[in-house]
Amino acid sequence: MKNVPLYLEGEFVQSQTDQWIDVTDPATNEVIAKAPCTTADEMTRAIESARKMFHIWKETPVSERARVMMRYQALLKENHDQIAEILSSETGKTFEDAKGDVWRGIEVVEHAANIPSMMMGETVENVARDIDTYSITQPLGVCAGITPFNFPAMIPLWMFPLAIACGNTFILKPSEQDPLTPMRLAKLFEEAGAPKGVLQVVHGAKEQVDRLLTDPVIKAVSFVGSVPVGRYIYETGTRHMKRVQSLAGAKNHMVILPDADKQQVINALVGASVGAAGQRCMAISVAVFVGEAQRWIPELKQAMAAARPGAWNEAGASYGPIISRKAKEKIEHLIGRGEAEGANLLLDGRGCKVDGLPNGNWVGPTLFSGVTEDMEIYKEEIFGPVLSCMEVDTLGDAIELVNRSPYGNGTSLFTSSGGAARRYQHEIDVGQVGINVPIPVPLPFFSFTGWKGSFYGDQHAYGKQAVRFYTETKTVTARWFSSDAQAETNFSIRMR
Ligand code: NAD
Repeated sequence: MKNVPLYLEGEFVQSQTDQWIDVTDPATNEVIAKAPCTTADEMTRAIESARKMFHIWKETPVSERARVMMRYQALLKENHDQIAEILSSETGKTFEDAKGDVWRGIEVVEHAANIPSMMMGETVENVARDIDTYSITQPLGVCAGITPFNFPAMIPLWMFPLAIACGNTFILKPSEQDPLTPMRLAKLFEEAGAPKGVLQVVHGAKEQVDRLLTDPVIKAVSFVGSVPVGRYIYETGTRHMKRVQSLAGAKNHMVILPDADKQQVINALVGASVGAAGQRCMAISVAVFVGEAQRWIPELKQAMAAARPGAWNEAGASYGPIISRKAKEKIEHLIGRGEAEGANLLLDGRGCKVDGLPNGNWVGPTLFSGVTEDMEIYKEEIFGPVLSCMEVDTLGDAIELVNRSPYGNGTSLFTSSGGAARRYQHEIDVGQVGINVPIPVPLPFFSFTGWKGSFYGDQHAYGKQAVRFYTETKTVTARWFSSDAQAETNFSIRMR
């Protein structure tokens, strides 16, 4: 068991706090580390050092900033499995899943290495006689990131590499539930040659986040997490005149037309609902069966029943434990509510046991049918291996249902009809759409474009939108008189 250090002014240091948060292995509930609640003085040090470093870092040529990202990408790849092992040990994710978490982050670092071309401005010559207008892209200053537990490698890597490549400095406040992975990422960033103070990592919860949201030195805040906290972050950060991008919770629907390939539908539904124990913001939590497709629910039940949780390094485990006892209790409570409200509980994951790990936060695959919009299991983000099936008559009904949802992170349609797919992608009010793809997370050259209650802000995470988020545009209108050119020529002649 160890105390997690802070990363302040380029040094890994022990906090002087007397308040520590237990980091547990969710497969056993044993305490594996303690994360400090960073003190007010330590927060000041992080912010001050990031502020001072900004004035040096922003003058560092963009190609040098890109080279740090190239070295970082190479180091992350070399250490890929080791990072995944740390990640598995503190989240319980299966090793395969943990490797995916790391890899999706590496892809963003790769993209950040292209920063010179992403920061190019625009030019129009002769906007008036002898006048040109051009835009310059400049960094904002000190930016902060607050991240959730469920992707402790990928989500920090959505944020700080791009912000720093743009010339900003960055303060990361990772989830207090799994801070060991982000600390490994910070260590490798230092080894990649990032100058001291460009990245700082602080730990804690609301108090530390509040400081980042209110301190005038911080210019922009990136947040990923639950809906209530996401709204709070957006409201508080913008009230303190910061730029905020706040990615929040979700309830993602997969719509199944009867002309889809049944086996593909079943495989996709099982993987997208119980994979990672349903603890993905893009997990499918609602399956909307259109017409005859409802007849596939018994086969779906059979396939889901074959999935089982287990330890991260156990071959054959379909997914790991729930992150905490509290989260497991919430899931079990919601399953009970679904039953009480009249949904058909086809598979009940409560009371799940895993051999040799009696204290883990296990929830078995859970399947409901006959779910309606007024039920709590439909309205709440359960964030567990629970799938709710709904039944409608037409594609139009399905589109209306999905569009009534207050969330808009992801959705997918399974069909063999190009016309239906075209209609769905056009009419659906959701920011990320999969056609025969259950979890349509865009690669880093696009952006992560959740809508409605799943996102508060304007510019989304990673890709071109993140570069806009982490920079200001300066537009220069310049006039050079032809008489200057004449004067220059005369001067040259005199010099000769
Ligand atoms: P969370 O909202 O509990 O915590 C996220 C971060 O906010 C953590 O760093 C935490 O310390 C901090 N925090 C918690 N309470 C706070 C408060 N009252 N004031 C200020 N800061 C606070 O989320 P979580 O449980 O760690 O993560 C799961 C949630 O994240 C789910 O809702 C999931 O859908 C969402 N998520 C969304 C996306 C997306 O891209 N939209 C991606 C991943 C996860």
